[in-house]
Formats: sequence, C-alpha cells, structure tokens
Amino acid sequence: MNQQGHMASYGQPQPGYQGYQQFAYNQHTAGVPTSQYGPYNGPVQGYEPTAAPQGPLRPTPGAPPTSLPPSTAAQSTAYNQYGQGDIQNGPAMTDQMQRFPVSQSYMPGGQPIAYQQYAPPPSNAQHLPNQMAAMQISGSTSNAPPPISQSYGPPTSHRQTTASFPPTGPAVYTQYSTPLQNISSSIPQAGNPPQQPFSGQTVPASTFTSPPTSTGLTGMNLPPPPGVSRPTAMHAPPLPGQSQTGFPPSQPPTGHYPPQPNHRPAAPQTGVPGVVPGPPTQGFQVHPTQPSQGFIPQQNGSFGQMRAPQPNYAAPYTGTPSYNSQPQPQQKRLDPDSIPSPLNELPPQQKTRHRIDPDAIPSPIQVIEDDKSNRGSEPFSTGVRGQVPPLVTTDFVVKDQGNSSPRFIRCAAYNLPCTSDMAKQCQVPLTAVIKPLATLPADEAPPYIVDHGETGPIRCNRCKAYMCPYMQFIEGGRRFQCAFCSCVTEVPLHYFQHLDHTGKRMDYYDRPELSLGSYEFLATVDYCKNNKIPNPPAFIFMIDVSYNALKSGLVHLLCEELKTLLDYLPREGNAEESAIRVGFVTYNKVLHFYNVKSSLAQPQMMVVSDIADMFVPLLDGFLVNVNESRAVINSLLEQIPEMFGDTRETETVFGPVIQAGLEALKAAECAGKLFIFHSTLPLAEAPGKLKNRDDKKLINTDKEKVLFQPQTNFYNNLAKECVAQGCCVDLFLFPNQYVDVATLGLVTYQTGGSIYKYTYFQAQADGERFLNDLHRDVRKVIGFDSVMRVRTSTGIRATDFFGSFYMSNTTDVELAALDCDKAITVEFKHDDKLNEDNGAQIQCALLYTSCSGQRRLRIHNLSLNCCTQLADLYRNCETDTLINYFVKLAYRGVLSNPTKTVRETLINQSAQILACYRKNCASPSSAGQLILPECMKLLPVYLNCVLKNDVLQPSAEVSTDDRAYTRQLVISMDVAETSVFFYPRLLPVHKMDVDSDDFPVAIRCSEERLSKGGIYLLENGLNLFIWVGMNTQHDLIQSIFNVQSFGQIDSAMSALPMLDNPYSKKLRSMVDMIRAQRPRFMKLIIVKQDDKMEVLFKHFLMEDKSASGGASYVDFLCHMHKEIRQLLS
Ligand SMILES: [Zn+2]
Repeated sequence: MNQQGHMASYGQPQPGYQGYQQFAYNQHTAGVPTSQYGPYNGPVQGYEPTAAPQGPLRPTPGAPPTSLPPSTAAQSTAYNQYGQGDIQNGPAMTDQMQRFPVSQSYMPGGQPIAYQQYAPPPSNAQHLPNQMAAMQISGSTSNAPPPISQSYGPPTSHRQTTASFPPTGPAVYTQYSTPLQNISSSIPQAGNPPQQPFSGQTVPASTFTSPPTSTGLTGMNLPPPPGVSRPTAMHAPPLPGQSQTGFPPSQPPTGHYPPQPNHRPAAPQTGVPGVVPGPPTQGFQVHPTQPSQGFIPQQNGSFGQMRAPQPNYAAPYTGTPSYNSQPQPQQKRLDPDSIPSPLNELPPQQKTRHRIDPDAIPSPIQVIEDDKSNRGSEPFSTGVRGQVPPLVTTDFVVKDQGNSSPRFIRCAAYNLPCTSDMAKQCQVPLTAVIKPLATLPADEAPPYIVDHGETGPIRCNRCKAYMCPYMQFIEGGRRFQCAFCSCVTEVPLHYFQHLDHTGKRMDYYDRPELSLGSYEFLATVDYCKNNKIPNPPAFIFMIDVSYNALKSGLVHLLCEELKTLLDYLPREGNAEESAIRVGFVTYNKVLHFYNVKSSLAQPQMMVVSDIADMFVPLLDGFLVNVNESRAVINSLLEQIPEMFGDTRETETVFGPVIQAGLEALKAAECAGKLFIFHSTLPLAEAPGKLKNRDDKKLINTDKEKVLFQPQTNFYNNLAKECVAQGCCVDLFLFPNQYVDVATLGLVTYQTGGSIYKYTYFQAQADGERFLNDLHRDVRKVIGFDSVMRVRTSTGIRATDFFGSFYMSNTTDVELAALDCDKAITVEFKHDDKLNEDNGAQIQCALLYTSCSGQRRLRIHNLSLNCCTQLADLYRNCETDTLINYFVKLAYRGVLSNPTKTVRETLINQSAQILACYRKNCASPSSAGQLILPECMKLLPVYLNCVLKNDVLQPSAEVSTDDRAYTRQLVISMDVAETSVFFYPRLLPVHKMDVDSDDFPVAIRCSEERLSKGGIYLLENGLNLFIWVGMNTQHDLIQSIFNVQSFGQIDSAMSALPMLDNPYSKKLRSMVDMIRAQRPRFMKLIIVKQDDKMEVLFKHFLMEDKSASGGASYVDFLCHMHKEIRQLLS
C-alpha cells in the first residue's frame, strides 16, 4: 500500500489536522455555535448529497477481471501499528502536560435560556403531584364478605415455592394455573353477588370526578351497583391440563393456553382474604392525588371513543356499537378465547367470562394519554435534580439546564435509595439507559463543542471526571472540588475565572461544560491510539454473489442503489464531501477484491481463493474517495451483477469476509464499517465455517440456551480483533432458511453494528424495506473507535452494562462504532451510603472518532436525588426504563439459563418490587387488595408483554433465527423502542381526523377492542399492519383501498393506493410519519378480518392470551397479585 498516496489524496480536506486544537474549532465555537454544529447531530440535512455523480459512466467491456497473485501478506503487518490495549477514556492529566493555555470563551449564541443555577433543588420540587397515587385492586374487604362457596384450594400449598424462587423450581405458571383451574371449577353461578364488581363496566362516572388528595384508601372506582353489569352467564372453565408450564410447542394451540382464570377471582380462603384478587367489592381503587382527569377514562377500552366525536368519520364510520363511548351495563364482553371472530355473535355463555373488568385495570393508553396532556405542553427543563421526565410517548421539548436530556439518559429511578439495604429491600434496579449519540429534534440544539486547548479537557486529577456543572469552584476560582470523588484540583491558568458573589464562575453561562448537561470536548492527540490523529474512517461494501443472492435480485438491486447512495456518506458539519473512503469486495467461496483507483480506466478484480489465511491483495486503490473514483466505481457496480449473473455457486464463506475487511482497515490504519450482504449459512470449507444445528426440540428445555449461543468461538475472537481496530460490522441477511443468526450476528453485536434480516427476500416485494434500511444505515450519525466510561459520585458505581459492545475490563465499554440509534443500559449498585443533600451524580463520557476523523468526547451528566424513605423512590420511577432493563437482563439471561428460569426471575423481581411498595409505602388496607404504585401501575402489563415475546416464549411458527435476531435487536434498543416494541401502538384509523395533524388516540392491544366496522393500524417499530374489519363502511374502503367492498381488498398489496381524497391522504401520511419515527423501515401488511394473516396480527394484541401460552393481561395481573401476596405473607 502506498500510504503516502493516501495522505496526499485525503489529507487536504481535513480541517484541523494540523491546527486541530488551535484554530479550527475555535472558529466554530466562537462563530456560529448553533448552526455550525447542527448538522453533526442534527437532522439529516447535514448529509445532503453533493452533486450528482460526476464521473462519466464508462462502457462495460467484456469484463476481463484480472486475477492477480496475492501480494505479500506481510505488508499488512507493516501497518499494523495500533496498539490494542491503549484505548482509554483519555489520558491521565499530569502537570507536565501543561501547555500553552488556549482558553476561549464560549458564547452560546442562540441559546436562549436563562440558565438557572444548578443546585440541589427545593426539596419538594420533585414531588410531582401525579406521582402520589396508588392503584388498588381491591380484594376482599370489609365491604363485602367473601363468598363462602368459592374455595381457592391450592394456593397455600404453592406459597412456599414462590417464596424462594429457585431457578429450577416449580414453574410459576404452574402455580398460576392450578389454582385458577380450581377457581374455574368452583365458580359460582351467574348472579353471585361477589362477581358483580368485577364486571365493572358500569362504573359510575361520578365516582371518578373528585379524587381524594391523599394516598389513602378512598375508593375512586367504586363498584357498580349490584347487578348492573353482571355477567349473564358463566363460561365453562378451560379444561384442566391445558395449562401451561410453559409452551410445549408440539401441542395444539389450545394446549398452550394458560388456564383461563375466568377473570373472576375466586373467593379468598377463609381467613386469608384474597389470595387472588378476591371477590372484590370495589373493583379497582385508584388514589391519585393528581387532578381528576386521571381516571375519568377508566372505561378505557373505549377511551378513544370517549373523546368528542371526531368531526369527519365519526358518524359514518364508527364501528360496531359494542365498544363505544358510554359504559353500557349489559354490553357484551368478548371472550378472548373465542378465536376466530369474537365480534361475531357469540353464544350467550361466552359473553361473560371476565370477572375482572379489563377497563378497570391500569390501562397503558390511559397512562400515555394522561402524560401527554399533563406534560406535553410545557418544555421539560432539566435544571432540577432528580426530576422524572415525561414518558417517551409524549412529545415534549427539552431545555438543557444542567442535566442531560432524557433523550440521552433515562433512569428507572430518579430518587435513589440512600443505602444498599434499601435497594435490596425494594429490588428496584438502579439503572440508566444511555444513548450517547441520540438524534435530537430539529428544535433542540445538538451538544456544543468545547475546546479546552492543547492540554485537553479539564478533568479531576483523581477520578478523571470531566469538567461539568457539578464541580464546585473554591478559593476564588483557583481550584475546584470534584463532585464525583471530592478531590480538589488546581484550575489551570488558562481556565481560571473569577467567581461571583454566589461562588459561581463569572463565565458560567458562557461555557457549556459549566451550565449544560450535555456537550462535547475536542480531544487532543493524547486521546488517540498511539498518540496519533486518526485517519478518516472507511466503509467497505462486501457483497455475497452466490446463487441465492443473484436469484433474489439482491445483487442487482444493491449495485444499482450504491451508485447513488455513495453520495450520502456522512459528512462533517458543512463539509462539501465526505471524508469517508469506500472499498468493494464480492464473495462466494472465494473473495474478490476490486481496485477502483481513480486513474484506472476499468476496475480490476483480484481473487483470493486461499481463504484459510486471509489477506488483502491490494492496498493502493482499494479504499478510495468516492468522488475521485466515481467513474471506476460506477463501472464496477454495473459489472458485478453481470459478472456473476450465471453463477451456480451456492456455497459461501463468512469468517474470511470479516477478516478481509478487518485486514483492509488495519492496512489503511483507520477505523471503519463493513457492510456485509449475506444470504446463506457459510458451509464452505473456511475459518468460521458453520453447520446447521437448528433444533427447535430444545425449546423449553435446559439446553434451549445453546440456540442463542454461537456455535464456535471463532467469531468471538474475531470480534475482539475488530473492536481493537475500530472495525464495525453491519450485517444484512437475506436467508431462505436457517443461517444461524446467533453465530453470524456475533461480530455485529460485539462491534456495535446493526443487523437486518430479510427472510425470503425478493427484490420486488422487499426492495423498498431493504433500500430504506440501507440508506438510513449508511447515512446515520456514527462515532468510530469508541470507548464509553460511566463515572459516578461516591456511593454508587456502574456495575453492569447491556448492549452491543465489547468489554475487556469492568469499566470501559468498547465500541468499534456507536451510532445514533444504539443505547446502552447501565446498572448501578451501592458501594457506600448516599446522602440526600448531595444526591448522586452520573457522568457518561464517550470518546470517539467522528466521520471526518476528529477525535471527540461527548459528555452527558445527570444528577439524581437520594432518599431515606422508600415512598420517595416509588414516586419517582419510570416503568418504561425499568422494562428496558428487565428485557436486557432477560435477553442476556437466556444465554445461560432456561427461558423458564428467566421468566420466573423477572416475575419474582417484579413481585418483590410491588410487594415492597405494598408493605412499606401503601396505606394500610385489606390484604386482599392489589395496590400498585402510580408510577409502576403498568409494570404488570408491560412485564407480561416481555414474558410473552418470542424470545422468552416462542410460538410454534417462530424460527430459531427470528428469536436470535429479535434478541440482538432489542439488546441495543432505547426506551422508546422497547416501549412500543413490547406494547405496540394500535390506532383506530376510522376515527382519524382528516383535518388534524394528530393521530387518533390509540386503543389497547386487545382483540375485544377491535370493531369489525373499523380499520386499525398497528405498529411496534418493526412491524406495521393495517387490519380491516369485515363490516367496514364501503365508502371508507373505497376511499382508502380504491375497491368497492371488503371482499375486493387485496391483502397482498404492500402499499396503499395513492388516492386523492382526505382519508387516503391522511392514512398514508400517518404511515409515513410512523415510519419516520422508527429506526427501521416497516413493511406494510394488510390484514383482513378472518383472513389467514390474522393470526400474525393477533400475535401483537398483547393484552390477550397468546398462542404460545402467554397469559392475558387480566390473568397475569391476578398472577402477580398472588405472587405479591405470597411475598407479603
Ligand atoms: Zn474526581
């Protein structure tokens, strides 16, 4: 390789390479702070294409690819200079490093906010009124004596098993099911008074209107008058033995159902009121201290319908009358068991299985909508310590006033227990989900870039924490005391500033690192590998050209797309062109490298068939600047589909492909990303060769974990090498059968890469999704060669990390690359006592190389409150974040435990969390009541969604690869993604307001919420459905699908017809907006009621029982209640 050539070609467009710290960025910071840095983290306009492809397209000659003999592999070692162990989160700052002070004052420019002093907030500031409430599901209370007849036999005998939660102990579901069957068999006949409250469809609205102001027990949700909504008949209980110690996949579907608990809690045993939600006399009690809007929509299944009638479609297109606005005492309740078409007329005995009214249990939609209306209107200012942000589903603006935006860091608890004993007692994980490079909305300024000069960022001498708003300046500003370790550090001369009368630096508002929660530092050469400024990164496209890849149309589609896509490579700020160089490899059983040097008339191919010891046969001309080599690249991209068009080669290699990319980056001395487009299990003889070891019989056995483990260590070792080089691997899979995602995805997983899977790919049908994903993936903001370190103040420390990365020690999260979509979940544990005055501080520092080769540090700071009362903890929690943590804990757990154990562990920990609240925080009340903390009242429903997901409880049709794939995707999701992924968004399309930009209010994910006269859109971030009820009005069908009747709708369509009417436009715009909100493109699937595809759709109706044996929400809530009671007794 001609390294000089590289330097000559690519050296000049890199501002700041020489004067790096001195002028290049001073200009930026002093000049146009906001706009200058906008593109970096901001909207896509930073990556607008440069001019259209410049180079003339050259004719494609008869493809005379020359096969060169390999040059010496030894060459690559000559450039293999990067040490592997010296990536640190910055060097130690020592006195001899003092150099010329280059302090410049920072002018925040467009930052309009008057920053408020960061200080411990007023003690009551974090006590949001709406967090005070408790939710109760009352069991047996004095109001209504338990019915004598309802014996609930077995529970006591099960109690001891759950108390200790042995991993291999009896299945929780077993315990669950057995008693419930007993209940079923002893269900009293209809009309038995104790059941009436549970069919609380008819909760009088008046009881919601004046909430109590305390957390006391005053019932808000009083039972309906006896008889008003009583079931008219009881459904027969499920057959015994249908239960569910899991999900025997070989059984017929009905066998997978957990016992239907009939939603009608049996009477508690005598003397032990309410083992399950007993014959509740009060239904659910809710005690919010918040304003009354909270529970008005308790009839929440029809929450959306309760809204004022929508102006347009309301009249003609409302669905069936079953689920509309007003509580209807005798309204049919649908039986979730009635699979095919619950909305059809049901036999009378099936109408009334529920003993707990689904409308009376905590509704995700209710919580989401309440948060939107309570918190969506005002900006969220981060100046107050320990403040719980609005939910991820709420659209809100963030003002950084000294703590990081929740878009960067979200915590499960914003008020940490002071002692580890308290933490153990409550079992609430102290966890944060950090998304260091998160994309911000256009109206929020991306982090400012700060330059502290040649000596680099100011840091604490001892713990190396970076300058931040929590540092206390003392002695007139000459020294500062670290908020993390209390060590006192001299302020370097060039950074000195006088203090004002409050002890604040005079330049407080001028410096992001003193007044903002998030900002970036320019890193010096000390923060670079081998003390050398990095080269710009490279992208290498590695294309499978075996038979399947050609036949599906992939190769042709991809090569065509790359011609334009290469114009969109990430660029730094306002740079005219991307500094990223590109290279191309094709492969089947052998690898083909291409020389696309700009001086060539035609690309040259070099074949490497000795794949046992991979090397790169060319150095000069392999990685090139796109604009310089445009013509040669275009020629290559035109030739590739032709060259391999007639291939009969079906075998592929995989390990050598990654090795080749890695070697190429090593030789070029740069970090980068490999884009691998791969179709089959790599069966060809080569390093990393795999065998088909899929075995679904392992499901639900102790050996199930091997399905998630890689089948060879080869890729572990390769991943480690890749991380050391900063070689990130993105994997696009196009399998027609098992490809062993668990193994193939390993390097991707450990290098911070992204994985995409297009099963049975056909260019025609799936091209749109693939190309959209590819575009986004190539263009997105990304940092290379990254190390993340999380520092904490004394008393807690980060002990565990979850995500797509590699760790070679216990503190540094190493990422070959980190992009704007990846989140890392961190768990903290006590190592000492915390105190309420000081709170707890977290500082996340991400060292990375930008797309132009700049070395930077992104810093995020968050300060939390600490409490001595558990009630404060429970008042300041965030369930979505808690679930994010639980999912990641579980998905790591399946690598070493049976899924059953993992499920039990989650249930156990959640039960402990809720039991602790019940015991220590809730007002005294009947033991039979289920009392949930307001902030966690959705924990049961969300937890159940996690437990039912394919990874932990697969249905029969889910492939092993799909499970491994889902697992890998979820592990780097942020809170917003896990939130919608596990509890999808279900929007009643027929209620959309065509004159508004708003979406219709979502409804709960249950079949019984669907009207057969309605059309619904369901999305979870990966899947997008439009479900059409068979009784939908013809003119609505005409307006959207351009056919006259339900029967004529073509469910094979993958896009809605473009029709010129408001309904078509509005729905298509909703689909577009939803797609734009998600990191991955969702292919639209049309599902007609009763169509065969409906099974797939129903898989996402998370409140219902699942085909794989997952419990319905109501059932699971009963189960959780029982678990909690057992813990309390
Ligand atoms: Zn320190």
